[in-house]
Amino acid sequence: MTETSPSHFDVVVVGGGPAGYGAALAASSAGKSVALVEAEDLGGTCLHRGCIPAKHFLEAASVVRSIGDAARFGINVLDLSVDFEATQAAKALLVNGIATGLAKLLKTRKVVLVAGHGRLLGPGQVEVASVDGTRALSAESIILAPGSVPRSLEALPIDERRMVNSDGFLNLKAIPPRVAIVGGGAIGCEFASLLSDLGASVTILEGLPRLLAGCDVDVSRLITRSFTKRGIGVQVNAMVTGQQPSATGGTILNLGDDSTVEVDLVVVSVGRVPKTTGLLAESVHLEMDDQGAILVDDQQQTSLPGVYAVGDVVAGRPQLAHVGFAEALVAVGALAGTPLPPVNYEAIPWAIYCHPEIAYLGLTEAQAVARGIPVTVKKDPIGGNSRAQIMGETDGFAKIICETKADGAAGRVLGVHLVGPRATEQLSGPSLAVNLGLEAEEIANFLAPHPSLSETYGETLLALTGRGLHVH
Ligand SMILES: Cc1cc2nc3c(=O)[nH]c(=O)nc-3n(C[C@H](O)[C@H](O)[C@H](O)COP(=O)(O)OP(=O)(O)OC[C@H]3O[C@@H](n4cnc5c(N)ncnc54)[C@H](O)[C@@H]3O)c2cc1C
Repeated sequence: MTETSPSHFDVVVVGGGPAGYGAALAASSAGKSVALVEAEDLGGTCLHRGCIPAKHFLEAASVVRSIGDAARFGINVLDLSVDFEATQAAKALLVNGIATGLAKLLKTRKVVLVAGHGRLLGPGQVEVASVDGTRALSAESIILAPGSVPRSLEALPIDERRMVNSDGFLNLKAIPPRVAIVGGGAIGCEFASLLSDLGASVTILEGLPRLLAGCDVDVSRLITRSFTKRGIGVQVNAMVTGQQPSATGGTILNLGDDSTVEVDLVVVSVGRVPKTTGLLAESVHLEMDDQGAILVDDQQQTSLPGVYAVGDVVAGRPQLAHVGFAEALVAVGALAGTPLPPVNYEAIPWAIYCHPEIAYLGLTEAQAVARGIPVTVKKDPIGGNSRAQIMGETDGFAKIICETKADGAAGRVLGVHLVGPRATEQLSGPSLAVNLGLEAEEIANFLAPHPSLSETYGETLLALTGRGLHVH
């Protein structure tokens, strides 16, 4: 069926991931009539193939670790085994529940869901193709939020059997005995960590000189040490040049130094690329970078009037769900004539849920030094933190980077890097400090409850002012 008369809305959003549904909710709250076009699953990568399934498995991994540690508390566990199909079923239940809740929320806010593939025909015009035919939508403003897909490597073709990307990994039916993770970024490290806890023998192959190259170097060092202690193989400067099937049905990976690694499964985790295939009619020319990501100004406006872009598809921005939410609010503020300050990309919170967990925001020490900023840095281990000792998780630290003031004292907090149990849940305080440009002295006297994991951050701040109790 082809509908010829266009349905008109104030705003049409293309893509129903966090950035897209966030934009739809924000536009609805701003009193706009909104259509949200989604080709596959409402909730996008984050809900179906990203954040939520990955964190579900990481939580399962942490349950396995806790049970493994039960004897320390005098608790005897007779048998421990992982039924990964049941873990998958629990994940599906969780994801479906959240997706249903999201659909209800959008309906309550009167957002019209349009199932199908959206194509921008020009400013104010979107065509939606579905099994039922095509439908024309028109709008005052259009927000593009098509997200991203896993980057592929020619040398490692995905076959969903010996070789998977993050999409395939999150749908595995069983944990293979030997796994190689190609790519030691955030997703690669999360996968390696959970696989190891769930019983696999894991090797990470990273082409760069260190894991988690975007993190502060002390974070990379600690994670490498900790992973190695847990038996996870970490090979850096490891370029995968090719592969062939092994006699046992697995894969032999060839590395640039002529060595090989034999595994049952290869997980290719080498970043993500914007999903713009079929997004634009041939006559439409949007400014993009050489990766095909859309260029926008600080109000998320693209090179076409009335067309905005948000989320993973935007060029040069961190690919994170909460960045998508923030950009959605900015885009809607702009189109509604109530502009918001641009997203502060210098203070985006990052969270990596491997074991030990990582959370940080602001500058790394190297970035601050490279900018010529005089810095005062304190790094305190969590080993002495009594809550961490109770939990038996003493691998980690709090590292704070402050600008050094003219009198030599530690001034503005520029970056905070936390590693250890529940690190992500402790980042709100540091986030306030970095975003508000607070100085160490202004916040060092705020009390952290005892015993708590957040005491290490508090103690590190105190140490920066020269008043550290347990550390100097
Ligand atoms: C394994 C993994 C773990 C992750 N963990 C985290 C995490 O812990 N925290 C975090 O913040 N981020 C995490 N991310 C990143 C996060 O998932 C993304 O940053 C986020 O989903 C991006 O949101 P988005 O709305 O821009 O795009 P997406 O979530 O990719 O959604 C885009 C949607 O648009 C639809 N679409 C595309 N083109 C069209 C079209 N032409 N017409 C109609 N619909 C279309 C797609 O079907 C999709 O549903 C993770 C990613 C992965 C892969």
